[in-house]
Amino acid sequence: MRKNEPVRMCITCRERDLQTNLIRLQEENHHIFPYRGYGRSFYLCNICRENEKKVKSLTKRFRLSTEDSEQFVKYLKELDIHG
Ligand SMILES: [Zn+2]
Repeated sequence: MRKNEPVRMCITCRERDLQTNLIRLQEENHHIFPYRGYGRSFYLCNICRENEKKVKSLTKRFRLSTEDSEQFVKYLKELDIHG
């Protein structure tokens, strides 16, 4: 791990990783969407991203609607982190 690279914590497993390895997301009014560059954000690691249980617990924590929750799960599945 190189110095000076920002390290962030995954919101669900609390593991720390380089910010560049994490998915930056934002929650507002019970919706989760990709970080827009302002406001509060949080990070999700790739291991949790692929763990549907953890993703579901996250959508519960933010009290997403069933529809939003399904959309979020779909979004994470389709997300190509290396692309
Ligand atoms: Zn994680």
